[in-house]
Amino acid sequence: MRSFRTALAAFFFLFSAGLFAQETEQQTEVREQGHINQNKFRQLYQEFATPNQYRTGSGAPGPAYYQNEADYKMDIELDDKTQKLTGRETITYHNNSPNDLEYLWVQLDQNIRSKDAVAKLKDGNGIAPVSQPGSFVSEYMEEPFDGGFNITEVSADGKPLKTFINNTMMRVDLPQPLKAGDSYTFDIAWWYNVNNHVTNRARSGFEHFPKDGNNAYVIAQFFPRMAVYNDVEGWQNYQFWGNGEFALPFGDYEVNITVPADHVLDGTGELQNRKEVFSKEMMRRYEKAKKTYDKPVMIVTQEEAEAAEKGFSNKKKTWKLKAEMVRDFAFATSRKFIWDMMAVKVGDKDVMAVSMYPKEGNPLWEEYSTKVVAHTLQSYSDHTFEYPYHKAISVHAKNQGMEYPMICWNYGRPDENGNYSDRVKYGMMSVIIHEVGHNFFPMIVNSDERQWGWMDEGLDTFMQYIAEQEYGERYPEDIAPHTKYPSRRGEPSKIVNYMKGDQKYIAPIMSNPENVYQLGNNAYGKPATALNILRETVMGKELFDHAFKTYSQRWMFKHPTPEDFFRTMEDASAVDLDWFWRGWFYTTDYVDIGVEGVKKYYVTDKPTKEGKELLQRYGVQDPSSVEALYVVAEDSEEMEASLKGGTPVENAPTLKEYLMDNFTPQQREKLKMPKYFYEVTFNKPGGLVMPIIVEYTYADGTTEKVTYPAQIWRKNDQQVSRSMATDKEITKIVVDPDLETADVNLDNNSWPQAAEVDKFQEFKAKNQG
Ligand SMILES: [Zn+2]
Repeated sequence: MRSFRTALAAFFFLFSAGLFAQETEQQTEVREQGHINQNKFRQLYQEFATPNQYRTGSGAPGPAYYQNEADYKMDIELDDKTQKLTGRETITYHNNSPNDLEYLWVQLDQNIRSKDAVAKLKDGNGIAPVSQPGSFVSEYMEEPFDGGFNITEVSADGKPLKTFINNTMMRVDLPQPLKAGDSYTFDIAWWYNVNNHVTNRARSGFEHFPKDGNNAYVIAQFFPRMAVYNDVEGWQNYQFWGNGEFALPFGDYEVNITVPADHVLDGTGELQNRKEVFSKEMMRRYEKAKKTYDKPVMIVTQEEAEAAEKGFSNKKKTWKLKAEMVRDFAFATSRKFIWDMMAVKVGDKDVMAVSMYPKEGNPLWEEYSTKVVAHTLQSYSDHTFEYPYHKAISVHAKNQGMEYPMICWNYGRPDENGNYSDRVKYGMMSVIIHEVGHNFFPMIVNSDERQWGWMDEGLDTFMQYIAEQEYGERYPEDIAPHTKYPSRRGEPSKIVNYMKGDQKYIAPIMSNPENVYQLGNNAYGKPATALNILRETVMGKELFDHAFKTYSQRWMFKHPTPEDFFRTMEDASAVDLDWFWRGWFYTTDYVDIGVEGVKKYYVTDKPTKEGKELLQRYGVQDPSSVEALYVVAEDSEEMEASLKGGTPVENAPTLKEYLMDNFTPQQREKLKMPKYFYEVTFNKPGGLVMPIIVEYTYADGTTEKVTYPAQIWRKNDQQVSRSMATDKEITKIVVDPDLETADVNLDNNSWPQAAEVDKFQEFKAKNQG
């Protein structure tokens, strides 16, 4: 208390005397130089693309919105002996744009693994850390692995087409421009060496199991894929450098995949020849799984998978898959896979939740994977739209967390004895929720991952947090002894260390994934936390959920941009959020709001003992002789500091004046002679504007929580004051008592300051958890 008073007195002294003069000088300077509008509440007209016929100011697709489509027919074959993948595809490209196209761009992502890939030379940080397997060893000490595409043919109607390969992009020159509204069909033949994704970290490849000599394949980005052409970028042919993921058009796929006969396989799309590739027993189990909603039905048991591991068939089997309106295609295959499925209700529809895993994943995977898939589909569907595909598959692959339409790869492996820690268990459940969740963002709400990593990762991580918490509420027995699901990201306090970190290594969320320093925090953690805070603290769940659902439904099976998201969130809620997007998404500012000072006025018609003494010290012998009502500042030092001659009575305003200055006529009418008047000053060392959430504690122990909207900062970005009248004395003031805003410094959050210590300990404990 004492130190506070001293500080307060010092503060008043500085402000009333020292700083005053300085501010005036600054003001003069500003007047001379002029300034541009830096107000944090100004609208984002300069940052946002101008609305047009393709994308409207409301954030919805406009009347001229279009998207091009690419349909694929593919025959591919995997050689398990040489780990070589060979394919031939027929692409039919539909130009729905109003423009004629002289050439097409095709993405050759595997070229990032070619011997001479320029992507290997992109970093200027010296030796890569040992923790990134392969990066150092394979670059300098081994013959580099050659995993780039070998394009053996590009043709139309049997005639070769002229092409040019620029790293990961191939331009296909058309004999005649492809007219607006027309389609073009052409063929590409290719092969490449599949890499080991464990030793040569990648989103696609195989894991080798030395004990039984088998491979488990998770295969993606394996075929030349059309780039996106749209109203925003023209051709999105930004090279694949490794961090920025994919931008892909929707289309229909027919894919025939030939693998050894003793493999099982699942992938994007509906299996067309189930009776050919399934045994009778598998068919029987599959029919049962379609009607089983409570627990997974084994299609291939662990015993059967272990028996298959011992053989190696030289025969082949072809699995035929067909998918409509997907933006990509991926598959997993091995003779090692255990396979289970169950049905899950999404709206009125049955969807299959599916898992594939080698025995190395058990006992964890048989217990949780399919159950988590089913929960994820329901939870995400509740908050966005009903999952439109017929299945969702979770495949276990070491160190992987990667998503494709209807199928994803996930980590989480027990040790050799089948034991696993909490970290492994929740890591596995969370990655499954996350990757299955990617079906919604970006597989269906098809944003451009190459340019905006946060639009899929951030939205998905935000939804992941909600799905995790809902899982904990739905299955408390699965998360015991925890009382709520231990989410790694989403809680505001979890982003504080990042937000308060070295500004040299922080980039705004609105950055290309290649150019950020900490992709995990930048594209996942921070946007997810920002949206969580927006939902729980700024907008409220009802308004947020409606707006978020509106965005999801407006842009399902379409290609949204950041503005489409930002605008829709406002359009559907009537909440001006430009300040929020500006601060959280376009800057690296952080939240730090504190209580700077409290002025307390005691109101009386007869000066109190303290007031009397105070007045006497200033030479007023008979206070009762002084006119009617006084407001007396309690802190004499403060009074002293602010006095500029005269007596306090001359300086202190009368109650009437005070009321006239600080309260509206309506407020004055309601005042029933409160005993105390306070002026609480909040300051904001942090750059982000946020609501001020304040808990006032009164002398009788009761508390009151007041939230001042972010707009309180609109005319003064550094310091604001609130006057209030109370019957009871205020004993404690705490800003952000429930740690809702990711405030990076709690030292200044309380008045008096000592009370803050408890909260800080609590916060620290929470952060370490
Ligand atoms: Zn992700």
